[in-house]
Amino acid sequence: MMLNVRSYNLGPLQTNAYLLTGADPSRGIIIDPGMNPSGLIRAVADMEIEAILLTHAHFDHIGGVDEIRKLKKCPVYVHPLESEWLTSPKLNGSLMWPEVSPPISTEPAEYDLAEGQTLNLIGLSFKVMHTPGHSPGSVSFLCGNDLFSGDVLFRLGVGRTDLPGGRENDLVNSLRGKLYRLDDEVKVYPGHGPRTSIGFEKSRNPYVQL
Ligand SMILES: [Zn+2]
Ligand SMILES: [Zn+2]
Repeated sequence: MMLNVRSYNLGPLQTNAYLLTGADPSRGIIIDPGMNPSGLIRAVADMEIEAILLTHAHFDHIGGVDEIRKLKKCPVYVHPLESEWLTSPKLNGSLMWPEVSPPISTEPAEYDLAEGQTLNLIGLSFKVMHTPGHSPGSVSFLCGNDLFSGDVLFRLGVGRTDLPGGRENDLVNSLRGKLYRLDDEVKVYPGHGPRTSIGFEKSRNPYVQL
């Protein structure tokens, strides 16, 4: 059981894309390929990419999806509540900030994600946790003691809930009912900003405590 995590800070909103590999360094998966992914594309030039996993379908997390999908011929996974966001610049928010982003859309995803599902990729298993609140189809991916939390949980922060489909109650339930129940030592890799841990956020997060 060894997961190797490399992060790439992409696009105007400094979205974290993660390139993950297991025992075989030539096979990877990508979580949330955002806008301007050229550094990430260079990194995967000689690799086989098994999948693109999306924590949610806001424009800053999907801008690089089609470029990488075409290049690496890999399928895309998203929660069904946001399937339509991929093809709609209105739904994925890219029309809201014309000064930040051009209209963004991608081809539809190949696969739906579901709560409790296990994905077997790169020789490891990833558990899918549906963690809505920031957006209705937000999911987190747990692999051993590593959690990829998208825009649900940040270091000393949480995702905003004032965008379409966001709900503060859902966010609190996702944190208290799901993510804060994980072991304290679980490392958290968020969609923006630095890494943190479940134990640290449970006791120090100013927005949602256990
Ligand atoms: Zn978001
Ligand atoms: Zn984001």
